[in-house]
Amino acid sequence: SSWWKNVEPAPKDPILGVTEAFLADPSPDKVNVGVGAYRDDNGKPVVLDCVREAERRIAGTSFMEYLPMGGSVKMVEETLKLAYGDNSEFVKDKRIAAVQSLSGTGACRLFADFQKRFCPGSQIYIPVPTWSNHHNIWRDAQVPQKTYHYYHPETKGLDFKGLMDDVKNAPEGSFFLLHACAHNPTGVDPTEEQWREISQLFKAKNHFAFFDMAYQGFASGDPARDAKSIRIFLEDGHHIGISQSYAKNMGLYGQRVGCLSVLCENEKQAVTVKSQLQQLARPMYSNPPLHGAQIVSTILGDPELKSLWLKEVKIMADRIIGMRTTLRESLEKLGSPLSWEHVTKQIGMFCYSGLTPEQVDRLTSEYHIYMTRNGRISMAGVTTGNVGYLANAIHEVTK
Ligand code: PLP
Repeated sequence: SSWWKNVEPAPKDPILGVTEAFLADPSPDKVNVGVGAYRDDNGKPVVLDCVREAERRIAGTSFMEYLPMGGSVKMVEETLKLAYGDNSEFVKDKRIAAVQSLSGTGACRLFADFQKRFCPGSQIYIPVPTWSNHHNIWRDAQVPQKTYHYYHPETKGLDFKGLMDDVKNAPEGSFFLLHACAHNPTGVDPTEEQWREISQLFKAKNHFAFFDMAYQGFASGDPARDAKSIRIFLEDGHHIGISQSYAKNMGLYGQRVGCLSVLCENEKQAVTVKSQLQQLARPMYSNPPLHGAQIVSTILGDPELKSLWLKEVKIMADRIIGMRTTLRESLEKLGSPLSWEHVTKQIGMFCYSGLTPEQVDRLTSEYHIYMTRNGRISMAGVTTGNVGYLANAIHEVTK
């Protein structure tokens, strides 16, 4: 019984802690805009129709054996096409080392471990701010972290100059973590032109770009369009890494299905790199889970189901975009003298509202509205039913 007496309680996760507090609140007015999970306009979690249909087709299949260490070959192949393009020469030439991962988190962690093992002494540049788990992931992989400028608090947009300066001043050949689209938590993405400039500068500095793409389809409603940043880097000849996740865009959160890929110089190198990624995965979890991979490959392997999926992604993205407009208009109608332009300018699942930690505390204590203290509103939790209440509360605490 004295084995663990030196163990202190771990600090609460800033995001998951919000949900705990929300669940414990008995108020009928309570609103949860903390967690990054999609809700429909009734505030209910959603299982996509394409997923239901895929499950119907999978049901009764007799295969329950282990997947290969690198996961479902079919799922990985379809997943690469989403990121690199349907007709990608890199996919055709087998230049991509790719393994099925435990969703986006697992892909990031596997890459961080790979980086540590094969580029010992390297660092990772992470944007400020970023998804808080990025810090945990590279910390536990024991890769030292640096930060780069990203968000401009005054404009509530991109700090492009700060970003470019940091990219320029980083040592040649540095690793950078980039959000491919729908940056979490800010909802601020570079424009296409800015991505081109970033890519050029990366080229000049010989930096490595690792794209975390947790929200493909959630920014514009079109997965191909949301991969634009990646396609620009590919056009410029970068050898990139990508983390992909089906948590949000297929609603497969708990299935933990995603993909880690690393673009290599040739097929031989890709085979070698893949063998090492598998070697890293083996002592951690041996092989990834089956069910989610079957759902994804069933959907993406069937033209009809795939087009249903694309429709459903667009419905989710459009609902969020619509809620942004309504939230902004509601605040303006209430006579708020502040500018709420950023609510509609930002994209993806989150709105980085600019609310201070104290204002967030008031929203929670006086209005039972739950969100992280950095002022991040998950727009996926905003509905026709609560947007007016939310706008009024925000107006009151920002007076
Ligand atoms: N990366 C970013 C930027 C995220 O916001 C998230 C989820 O919130 C993830 C990765 C990973 O999510 P998952 O592991 O559920 O795919």
